[in-house]
Amino acid sequence: MWFGAQSAEEAMIPIPLPWLVFTALIVFLAGIFFVWICYEIARKRRAAKDRKDRIQCHLCAREFTAERLEPLPLCPYCGSSNERIPLRLF
Ligand SMILES: [Zn+2]
Repeated sequence: MWFGAQSAEEAMIPIPLPWLVFTALIVFLAGIFFVWICYEIARKRRAAKDRKDRIQCHLCAREFTAERLEPLPLCPYCGSSNERIPLRLF
């Protein structure tokens, strides 16, 4: 059987209307879910990049931004030197 020889009505797949609506809804929700996941991954990467240079002072507990080259950055508020320990969220 030649596929090119089929008429348009023979080539179509018969699908009931509820299934068509259901399929369209699933495709739409999958698209939204995909965009949501991509946005969340990008947001977490951006937040991790911003958090890399942040240091919390071990003495006064204030956060400050320090250059990456300094081995023991000084706290601008109390003047104590701090080790470079990554900030934890929780
Ligand atoms: Zn401090």
